[in-house]
Amino acid sequence: MQLTEKLTINTPSSVQVITPDWVNNKIQLSIKRDDQIHSIISGNKWRKLHYTLEQAVTQKTKHIVSFGGGFSNHLHALGYCCHQLNIQFTAIVRGDYSKNLSPMLQDLLDWKTDVQYVDRVTYKKRTNIEYIQQLQKQYPHALLIPEGGSQQQALQGVTNIITELPQIYDYIIAPVASGGTLAGLIK
Ligand SMILES: *Cc1c(COP(=O)(O)O)cnc(C)c1O
Repeated sequence: MQLTEKLTINTPSSVQVITPDWVNNKIQLSIKRDDQIHSIISGNKWRKLHYTLEQAVTQKTKHIVSFGGGFSNHLHALGYCCHQLNIQFTAIVRGDYSKNLSPMLQDLLDWKTDVQYVDRVTYKKRTNIEYIQQLQKQYPHALLIPEGGSQQQALQGVTNIITELPQIYDYIIAPVASGGTLAGLIK
């Protein structure tokens, strides 16, 4: 079974066109409704994880580790995918939210995620090569995915947003955090 089928991913997402009356009907806005890809896996998070998860399933990966803040949509989406795919998930979270769970962290615990709270100094090392090697030694069978799901393969997944578009546009506007989505759109 295809991964998109297994996770009930609804792509291609639709494009909704709005002609705002506050600019004399001179501008047309189109919204790529990636928010409708899935009720839990938010749109751009799926795009970024698509090929990495496909590879993880093909290689029968049993454990995934990733990083994020206490309100991370990336950890939330990835935790849900791992739960559905029977992959153990470890979330390394910046700050101690154990007495103050966010909705995302509550869901992750419900999905049997191993949530590990680290202080800001430790979290800062998330791209540090020695720290990554140490984690890989600690979890020898785990696939490590960087913060935001913004690994190299994410770019390929994000380009699908563009290839699904029905026409050429003058501008593309996107919110930015880790920059993975932006980088994929530029690619
Ligand atoms: C994650 C997220 C972003 C940021 O995406 P990046 O690829 O990390 O820049 C923007 N908007 C929403 C709704 C998100 O969930």
